Amino acid sequence: MTPPDSMWAMVFEKVGHPLVYKQVPVPEPTKSQVLIKVIACGVCRTDLHIVDGELDHPKLPLIPGHEIIGKVVKLGSEVKSIRLNDIVGVPWLGYTCGHCKFCKQGKENLCDNALFTGYTIDGGYAEYTVADARYCFLMDSAHSKAGSAPLLCAGLIGFRSYHMIDAAANNIGLYGFGVAAHIIIQIAIAQGKKIFAFTRDGDTKTQQVAMKMGAHWAGGSSEVPAEKLDAAIIFASAGELIPKALTDVDKGGAVICGGIHMSEIPAFSYDLLWGERSVKSVANLTRQDGLAFFDIIKNISINTQTAFFKLSQANEAINKFRNGEIAGAAVLLVDTD
Ligand SMILES: [Zn+2]
Ligand SMILES: [Zn+2]
Repeated sequence: MTPPDSMWAMVFEKVGHPLVYKQVPVPEPTKSQVLIKVIACGVCRTDLHIVDGELDHPKLPLIPGHEIIGKVVKLGSEVKSIRLNDIVGVPWLGYTCGHCKFCKQGKENLCDNALFTGYTIDGGYAEYTVADARYCFLMDSAHSKAGSAPLLCAGLIGFRSYHMIDAAANNIGLYGFGVAAHIIIQIAIAQGKKIFAFTRDGDTKTQQVAMKMGAHWAGGSSEVPAEKLDAAIIFASAGELIPKALTDVDKGGAVICGGIHMSEIPAFSYDLLWGERSVKSVANLTRQDGLAFFDIIKNISINTQTAFFKLSQANEAINKFRNGEIAGAAVLLVDTD
């Protein structure tokens, strides 16, 4: 089937304004790209940071969205790794240069010239999108449906954060029990880890969800569990969680920050860092992270709780997500065939 000339998209034009539902031309793939008919695209907290103007220099106008599942409908002339009708996942990392210092060291997540899907290049809040074939993941039949969209960022970034922890760590704290934590707790428990889930103070509903999913302990972020943690992953964007997590981790413990944006971190005493505790941020992902993640979840069935919205309802999805009104992940269901 020949793709049409124009498509519906939700377009970010200006900070502080809702996305605009409009018709735009269907993009033409370059020689290294594929044209993808979008099946679904997840709404990630990073999308909120972009539309709120908290991340600098987005492409404008921009089609957001970097948790894309779609079907390949056209191939660029040099694409060999993907075939027509393959179901692919498109993540946040959209392009790297291959020749900067970081790319040469195998740290392409830190590439000086990287492009990011739904931020510096157009993403998946649209009926079609193009993506560089080298950064797409082939999705197996178990993960080719709309409900798998959150794996492409919440899953991948969550997994990179989890992988930064020393493999010997047993007691792991998850601060902010949203979509990434929902995915990571399933992998961590399958690997025999003890999970401590921290939510907003008083959010007993989310604490119950965490306990149901197998957490060893769940409580508010100001509470102190009876056992010391070996590591902490902070998925929430509240900077004050860093000193709090440092008080919860034992000597040698790592505090990993999984978000792209955080509010200011309050000053804290060196005593909190003493004992070889560390604080580290997680930036983006490498293709290797993706391959390792999809390999692991072949053997662990991951349930992602999703609330579906139509493409034209993207603003509603964003607002509900922002207000914490969605239990699980918000996903735009683009192709309802
Ligand atoms: Zn590079
Ligand atoms: Zn994301």
